[in-house]
Amino acid sequence: MLTCEALIQDAEARIGGDSPKLDAELLLSHVSGLSRTSFRAWPEREITAEQAEQFFVLVAERVEGKPIAYLLGQQEFWSLPLRVSTSTLIPRPDTECLVEAALSLELPESAKVLDLGSGTGAIALALASEKPEWQITATDRIAEAVELARENSQNLNLPVSVIQSHWFEELPAGAFDLLISNPPYIPASDRHLSEGDVRFEPASALVAGNDGLDDIRLLVTQGLGWLNAGGWMMLEHGYDQGDAVRDLFTQAGWRNIETRKDYGGNDRMTLARKPASD
Ligand code: GLN
Repeated sequence: MLTCEALIQDAEARIGGDSPKLDAELLLSHVSGLSRTSFRAWPEREITAEQAEQFFVLVAERVEGKPIAYLLGQQEFWSLPLRVSTSTLIPRPDTECLVEAALSLELPESAKVLDLGSGTGAIALALASEKPEWQITATDRIAEAVELARENSQNLNLPVSVIQSHWFEELPAGAFDLLISNPPYIPASDRHLSEGDVRFEPASALVAGNDGLDDIRLLVTQGLGWLNAGGWMMLEHGYDQGDAVRDLFTQAGWRNIETRKDYGGNDRMTLARKPASD
């Protein structure tokens, strides 16, 4: 009765959504320790009643809409397996385009980089995996997120210094070559907040005032004080916020302001440079 095949078929029918079979397989693999390919090779294999019990609980939560990443406690970002928890946003593939853009900048050999509102540590750790010589700091306002980012840093053996700070507030004085952030940027009234995965994610990581720009405004204004001359800031934002974010950078006196698209072809980030001292 508790064969892998029967369990997967039953869960698949109940989960629905975009990828019910994949979800069912991931959850079964999680509780059983068996690989997804083994379910195809040995569909008649049985799992223990205890494992089945855990599986049914997870499937019920998935039916309620809880994101698969929270149920597994893990999400891959830049090919790094990151632990996730409900204290942070689940890292999105679109955010990988910030990592790619950061790696393409001309920066000093041992660049000083700050990832603001780092959550799981995704951006900072991805950069650390590519640039071992960079000195990378990550901040988050939420204590649980700081713990999680430190844990990910240790598990992956990628050194990142993680500091609990609301944006720049608790940061020791210093100057960076790159400030990078995926801040909250969703307007408080946005209807997407009541749909899909974001329903289960912390508002602190998603919502930023009535126009979604409260935190971006702060970062653009205060960021200049934390950069070396010629240093860069790179911010993720909503697909319809490119004009507004470029305006904010322009008003604050930044140069080389440019919006770039994500892998889905939507405006997703804007970068800008602090003027070189003359
Ligand atoms: N891109 C995320 C979403 O729309 C939001 C991320 C964020 O607010 N930083 O689901």
